[in-house]
Amino acid sequence: FSRLTSGLRRSSEKLTSSVSAVFTKRKLDDEALEELEEILIAADLGAPAAARATARLARDRFDKEVTDEEIRTSLATTLSETLKPLEKPLDLGGAAKPEIVLFVGVNGSGKTTTLGKIAAALTRSGKKVLLVAGDTFRAAAVEQVSVWGERAGAPVEKRPIGADAAGLAFDAVDRARREGFDVVLVDTAGRLQTKTALMDELRKIIRVIGKVDPDAPHHAILVLDGTVGANAVSQAEAFLEAGGVTGVIMTKLDGTAKGGALVQVADRFKLPIHAIGVGEGIDDLQPFDADAFARALAG
Ligand code: GDP
Repeated sequence: FSRLTSGLRRSSEKLTSSVSAVFTKRKLDDEALEELEEILIAADLGAPAAARATARLARDRFDKEVTDEEIRTSLATTLSETLKPLEKPLDLGGAAKPEIVLFVGVNGSGKTTTLGKIAAALTRSGKKVLLVAGDTFRAAAVEQVSVWGERAGAPVEKRPIGADAAGLAFDAVDRARREGFDVVLVDTAGRLQTKTALMDELRKIIRVIGKVDPDAPHHAILVLDGTVGANAVSQAEAFLEAGGVTGVIMTKLDGTAKGGALVQVADRFKLPIHAIGVGEGIDDLQPFDADAFARALAG
């Protein structure tokens, strides 16, 4: 977990330098608790998690002298309690054949990169994987899926720019069935003229895939950029409205001071967390480990 630990260092440094400034051997009174709660909110953990963390400390240590080390340990416990029930590593290519996975999220969040990393891991483990360049609005997006297809050794279904994405997804899933693919990874558009258009497009893709297999898509993974902080919450809200989001992957947790937002998203929407992105390379995706994440964040 060295990538995560070093990556989240900036999040935790920001958090713990603030904590240390307040708590170098100090009595845990109401004022101190209030300051701590503010620090946690500023670290994007969200008000409910910040309240739980301070409540735990108040219960255990009120009116006693505490060190920042004790605060960090207690904080890690609270964060771990929040995240542990949502820890759900992806296990693809077994439950259904083909297993259909949709990747949703705003442009630049790391959707295509994440799809590529997962494709590579799956082909390496012997799975037959089909990629679908479902952002049919941007030539660069189609090109990027193709690059990842080559890297991962997986064929790519694509269409000319402007083609109907739902039609493409339908044909791809149909091909995957006929040709015995284990997993289909579908990239989607992250920006259209309006939010409504984007969500309509997603709903249509989901509906059309469901015509080939009523249980599909089996997963709709929301990819969130770890560097946008609390904005991740409103992004999650928007995509949840379109329906069908089954889990989350947060990217770019290497070197951001905003990783705390994952706690807020988890807390608010109780979405399973599958993995985290810790770099641009093919191996820079880690299964989500709640305890490791909580410890790295708490410092
Ligand atoms: P998309 O528009 O959602 O498909 O996003 P992309 O997959 O194109 O990613 C946008 C940018 O973020 C690219 O430059 C990626 O290399 C980069 N990126 C994606 N995931 C990570 C990550 O975990 N860490 C870092 N540092 N960069 C990432």
